[in-house]
Amino acid sequence: SRKTRKEDTLILLPQDVVVGGNASLMVAGPCSVESEQQTRTVAAALAKAGIKVMRGGAFKPRTSPYDFQGLGMDGLRILREAADEYGLLTISEIVDPAHIEPSLDYVDIIQIGARNMQNFELLKAAGEVNKPVLLKRGLAATMEEFLHAAEYILSRGNTQVMLIERGIRTYEKWTRNTLDISAVPILKQESHLPVLVDVTHSTGRKDILVPCAKAALAAGADGIMVEVHPDPATALSDAAQQLNIDEFNTFFNDVKASGLFR
Ligand code: PEP
Ligand code: MN
Repeated sequence: SRKTRKEDTLILLPQDVVVGGNASLMVAGPCSVESEQQTRTVAAALAKAGIKVMRGGAFKPRTSPYDFQGLGMDGLRILREAADEYGLLTISEIVDPAHIEPSLDYVDIIQIGARNMQNFELLKAAGEVNKPVLLKRGLAATMEEFLHAAEYILSRGNTQVMLIERGIRTYEKWTRNTLDISAVPILKQESHLPVLVDVTHSTGRKDILVPCAKAALAAGADGIMVEVHPDPATALSDAAQQLNIDEFNTFFNDVKASGLFR
């Protein structure tokens, strides 16, 4: 809380990447790590665009048990190898407290997903390690619940926590979730942690990513997350909402051209 700490927390990543400082962060990459080829294709494109942190899910929290569940530890290895080849940092979701320790060799940031925002044993396990954590807002979490979830990690000693708004569930059907832009200034006011916005999962539609990213940055977000896949139509998860590489380049250029991406 700002009550106990006035200064913004800066997240210090390898390669001198800082989150929460003067520079905005763009986290991009596929919904899921599907293969070496797919991951390396994205990594090459991201590195060329100047991206520093690549995402890619290996443990996928899918709504249906019959959908692709991710490549698990193999996926983390593929992500790490592709990232290393192109000088990128990695972020991937961990869903099991027992996987926190083994993941440390593969990820530069541990992602805790929306569905696990209140998995308290997972939060505690993430709080025990010396690795930055990106905590996603739960599908129906209040600001208070979100910040208390972050506090579970911080109170165990890991102070390297970032928050990310990823849309909440409302009655609206024209977007996958409802992007709660007000969360950004509220979280920035109430907390000293960096705040990001996931434009892909909050909207679920590619045609409004640029204005939503601009709104997030204008509201004070420290970074944006977006999904990119070499051939979204064939993606094993979130096929409808991922940008292809050309679309990503256009998206990133438009966001930068707004002057809001620092
Ligand atoms: C993701 O970012 O891969 C993801 C599953 O998002 P969320 O937890 O926000 O649904
Ligand atoms: Mn996804």
